Amino acid sequence: MSKERNTASPRPEKLLAVKGMNDILPPESARWEWLEAKVHELMARYAYRSIRTPIVEPTPLFVRSLGEVTDIVEKEMYSFEDRLNAELLTLRPEATAGVVRAVVEHSMLYDGGKRLYYMGPMFRHERPQRGRYRQFHQVGAEALGFPGAEVDAELILLAHALWRELGLQDVRLEINSLGEPHERRAHRAALIAHLERHIDALDEEARRRLHSNPLRILDTKNPAMQAIVEAAPRLLDFLGDASRAHFDAVQSILSANGVAWTVNPRLVRGMDYYNLTVFEFVTDRLGSQGTICGGGRYDYLVEQVGGKAAPAVGWALGIERVLELLGEQDRAPPGLVPDAYAIIPCVAVLPLAMRTIERLRQQGVSVQMHAAPAGGEGMGSMKSQFKKADASGALYALVFGEEESSRGMVTVKSLRDGVGAQVERPLDTIAQWSGTLQSAC
Ligand code: ATP
Ligand code: MG
Repeated sequence: MSKERNTASPRPEKLLAVKGMNDILPPESARWEWLEAKVHELMARYAYRSIRTPIVEPTPLFVRSLGEVTDIVEKEMYSFEDRLNAELLTLRPEATAGVVRAVVEHSMLYDGGKRLYYMGPMFRHERPQRGRYRQFHQVGAEALGFPGAEVDAELILLAHALWRELGLQDVRLEINSLGEPHERRAHRAALIAHLERHIDALDEEARRRLHSNPLRILDTKNPAMQAIVEAAPRLLDFLGDASRAHFDAVQSILSANGVAWTVNPRLVRGMDYYNLTVFEFVTDRLGSQGTICGGGRYDYLVEQVGGKAAPAVGWALGIERVLELLGEQDRAPPGLVPDAYAIIPCVAVLPLAMRTIERLRQQGVSVQMHAAPAGGEGMGSMKSQFKKADASGALYALVFGEEESSRGMVTVKSLRDGVGAQVERPLDTIAQWSGTLQSAC
């Protein structure tokens, strides 16, 4: 360190999080855990089992599975070379590719289909804005090894059930069928011919994708191109009997369950791996980041990743968008509060107080312990401790006063009854309480 810096002693520059990557602080973190707990519980009811795959995967996995001419692979991946062995690695932009890799690597389909789910962070280099971040989080469900429309429908019903469990409103379901590769090829030729007739009206990106990935042009958000894509040949009109029957079967099951949907013939999704059923749950309340969940069938991906061919279908939802929408609708769950706040007037009683608090915690009572504040002396005034106790939301204060402690007692004071009723309890027996403090008062 230079002498000059020492004498001037400037404060070191603040280090900030990477742009578009957020800290999730309390009490917001409690909402996340509430949502995650609902997901675990619901997945169990549908007999989906959790899978945890690495956050870093070999880059070729994503290039091969998502497709080279996709937004993600073209411009959104955080890729780097491993400094030690020069391997090309990528922070996962989505988790389906990794799940499929793991399923193949561990021969998980040897004894039949598997239903899996995951949750965790994903990384995409996008322009950060409301509902669009560079580190964001997804919950995803994947069913591998099942060819039937009943599993597409089950997955849609599962997502639908999750909205119900969370109390999420104003979400609508859009579905489409992308058919099979040979149907797509026929449509593709017709689509290119149509777009070529309007070449002058295509934006730069559309022109670039005209021959590499024309289907994605249908997904354009450019208002100037809406009329052209509206008039484009519809993939639905190119479906053969089998694809048509699969799509119809999904819809019959949704109808039987009272789930409403609209068919959106322009719904194509961002990855190349989809076929047959695709779907999105969308809301109008989050501006242009209105898709909260998307998915579909990807029957060719397992083979593409090097496994024995197996059908598959899945979806992923964006946790940030779901929580944002829940916030809009004021459905936020209450923050966590401790059962009791331990007030410790002087340092001398700390060992005794903490022994008691520990025993309470072992009994399942949550206790927030007062700790000496920075920059003050001792434990802080009683007044400031009670202020903290009040702010914690705890129902009770446990006051470990020196005098009552010397008599083997602690004062239990109600913080929420409006009058502050209090009783003294023996330190020895307080830790015997089971259940809530309420029963002890
Ligand atoms: P969009 O069209 O909004 O870019 P997408 O088609 O790229 O979405 P998917 O790859 O299907 O999204 O991911 C599934 C879900 O993950 C999306 O519906 C969305 O809720 C969420 N998601 C995707 N990208 C982001 C992001 N950058 N920030 C926050 N959530 C995201
Ligand atoms: Mg995207």
